[in-house]
Amino acid sequence: MTRTERTLAIIKPDAVAKGVAGRIISRIEESGLAILAARLVHLTDAQARGFYAVHRDRPFYASLCAFMTQGPCLPMVLEGENAIQRWRDLMGATDPASAAPSTIRKEFASSIEANAVHGSDAPETAAFEIPYFFAAVEICPR
Ligand code: ADP
Ligand code: MG
Repeated sequence: MTRTERTLAIIKPDAVAKGVAGRIISRIEESGLAILAARLVHLTDAQARGFYAVHRDRPFYASLCAFMTQGPCLPMVLEGENAIQRWRDLMGATDPASAAPSTIRKEFASSIEANAVHGSDAPETAAFEIPYFFAAVEICPR
């Protein structure tokens, strides 16, 4: 079954700092997913902790939040048929060492933590994550 979905993508601080945000955006455009919103954001510690609250009991939580606040990131709203899974497929596995060839994480990630991109993992997650970064008036429908 296919359905039009929206997902929250983030080009993480490592990829913005490396200067590969444009190449990652090109991958999105070439995939046919539409970018409905995008903005550079330098997260505070409290904002990173809130975004990743689902991981608060994991051993990597503090380090992940420190990483996400080390410089600006570039959150985006993407839309398309099955956008959530399509964006996860383009990203590749969480650990770049396990990511499939030609995925974004395989090509641009440095480590399992500094892994270049984020993507919502389910419709309920997207419903929390999209308004975390974007007000309705900042999202441009196609
Ligand atoms: P994904 O981003 O693929 O959905 P998770 O939701 O499991 O992965 O983890 C969220 C983020 O936390 C990852 O993208 C990565 O930046 C970081 N992370 C995950 N696992 C680890 C780990 N074992 N060590 C350090 N950082 C991790
Ligand atoms: Mg996740």
